[in-house]
This record gives sequence, structure tokens and C-alpha cells, in this order.
Amino acid sequence: MQPFAYSRPGTLAEAVALLEERGPGARVLAGGTDLLIRLRDGSLDPEVVVDVKRVPELAPGIRADDGRLVIGATTTMTEIAAHPVIRHEFAALADAAAYVGSVQIRNRATLAGNLCNASPAADTAPALLVHGAVVVAAGPEGTRRIPLDAFFVRSGVTTLARGELVTAVDLPLPSTRLASAHERRTRRRGHDLAAVTMAVGVDARGAARLAFGSVGPRPVVRVDDTATLGDRSATDADVDAILDRLLGDAAPSRTSMRASPGYRLAMLRVLARRARATALGRLADG
Ligand SMILES: Cc1cc2nc3c(=O)[nH]c(=O)nc-3n(C[C@H](O)[C@H](O)[C@H](O)COP(=O)(O)OP(=O)(O)OC[C@H]3O[C@@H](n4cnc5c(N)ncnc54)[C@H](O)[C@@H]3O)c2cc1C
Repeated sequence: MQPFAYSRPGTLAEAVALLEERGPGARVLAGGTDLLIRLRDGSLDPEVVVDVKRVPELAPGIRADDGRLVIGATTTMTEIAAHPVIRHEFAALADAAAYVGSVQIRNRATLAGNLCNASPAADTAPALLVHGAVVVAAGPEGTRRIPLDAFFVRSGVTTLARGELVTAVDLPLPSTRLASAHERRTRRRGHDLAAVTMAVGVDARGAARLAFGSVGPRPVVRVDDTATLGDRSATDADVDAILDRLLGDAAPSRTSMRASPGYRLAMLRVLARRARATALGRLADG
């Protein structure tokens, strides 16, 4: 590991000023479960690591505010997986948070870190896309709200500008419940990043959203405007026809060691069917 300076700002203004001044030479540290590995293997070599855990605006916490659920940037996977409103209203997110790593990892790993790392395999991304999450970013120009679908560019790259950091993730509290579920496929049991991730959300009017990752440079979301996925009387053939259309542009890497493209594409359909069935069951359970 190369030597680096360590800074622990106590205010948002200080953190933003440091990130703006150093640009790519500065790296935010939250839980460190991604960052520390990259510092150790030398794939990142920042001049300064900016620990944001003392910045009040990024504090952990989950609260309802003006029709939204606001999740503070440093909220951990453990807190998310256990939160009663998330478990009921945003069940796919609770599922996904509970899958991440191990107990030790989930106690450190933050939601914002999972998104800012921008891995196509990030477990929480599909669930947040299904539920229309918005990333709240603070920077030299003030605060802006970025729909999650406009946040990811490709592995390791987001639309955050120089000097910006994520302060929170907002989830709109829906007037009509969107029941959801998350599924993933890994090479082996235990700790492993997903070879395929999938989240499906359905509401009582039949509307459905589906999001998936690890089968392209970034996670993506698709809307079923035919109401087929949300219709529990739809035939398997009808569901498969819609899935073929919604999943048609998935393009898994040919060089990944985690799974072949053919396997990923096959599993994408299997996981979509499973997540849909779970989401429909949750909708029926109320
Ligand atoms: C053993 C192991 C197992 C894992 N298993 C999984 C898994 O199953 N599923 C999964 O999705 N991930 C997994 N991960 C990856 C990792 O735990 C998650 O991505 C985690 O959520 C990252 O959060 P963090 O707080 O630790 O981020 P950090 O490591 O602190 O940061 C990650 C990146 O985001 C940036 N960053 C962090 N917070 C902010 C912010 N507020 N604003 C701007 N930039 C920020 C950092 O600069 C860094 O580039 C695993 C990691 C390990 C080591």
C-alpha cells in the first residue's frame, strides 16, 4: 500500500473543499470495505483519504420526510436490512442489503459506498432502481438530486462531479404499494459478488418494474408497460415473452471469470421469474 494523507473533516464544507481542491487525488472513505482493498492491491493510489464518518450531513439514519424515506449516506447494510419500513415498503432493498458480504461486512458497508463504488454487481442498485431512488449529492455548487438511473456510467464511474459527495439516498414513499423482491446468483455460497442481480417490483394495478446488474457495464431498469408481469393470471409464455423484450439488451462481459455470458443470460430469466413470484406473493400478503 502506498502512503497517503488521512483527513477527517468535521463539516460538509471542509469535506467538499478538500475534494474539490485535490480532485481525483482525494478519495472518500466511508465503511472502507471496497476502498481498503483497492488501496492494498494498488489499483487506487490517492494522495489523501477523506474519512466522512464525522460529517453530520452524512450521518447514518433512516427517516421519513415529506413523502420520502431519506437514508443517510453512512447508513450500513445491517441497519437497512433490519428497518421495518424498508422491509415492508422497499422489501427488495432489505433483501439486497441482507445478502451483502458477511455480518462483519454489513456492519461496515454503507449504502452510499455501494452506489459510489459503481460496481455493475452492486447488490443494492437494482432494488433502488426499481423503487425510483434519488441520490442526493453536495458539492461546490450546492446540493443536487440525481435520479439513480442517471448516476451510474460504468464500473467505478458515476456522474458525481469534482468536489461532490453523496449525502443521502431518497426513496419516494409510494401512494400505491410497490411490492418487490431481490434475487442474485453467485458462483458459490458464502461471500461472493453476484454473477447476476435482479429486482422486480409489482403494484396492485399490474404495473411492474424490473432492474438487473452484472450483465453489462452498469445496472439498468426496465418498465413493463403491458402490465403482464404484475398480472398473476399471466401464462408462463406471456411472462417469458415480456422478459425476452425487457432483458433483450443485456450484454454480459465475455471476459469475466465469474460466469459465462450464456449462463448469465439464462440466470437473468430464472431470477426474474423468481423475483416476480416473490413480489406477487408479498403483494398478496399485504
Ligand atoms: C468480503 C467482501 C464481500 C462483499 N460482498 C458484497 C456483496 O455481496 N454485494 C455487494 O454489493 N458488495 C459487496 N462487497 C463490496 C462492499 O462491501 C460494498 O460495495 C459496500 O457497500 C461499500 O461501502 P463502504 O461504505 O465500505 O464503501 P467504501 O469502501 O468506503 O467506499 C467505496 C467507494 O465509494 C466512494 N464513496 C463512499 N462513500 C461515498 C460518498 N458518501 N460520496 C462519494 N463517494 C463515496 C469511496 O471513495 C470509494 O470509491 C463486499 C466487499 C468485501 C470486502
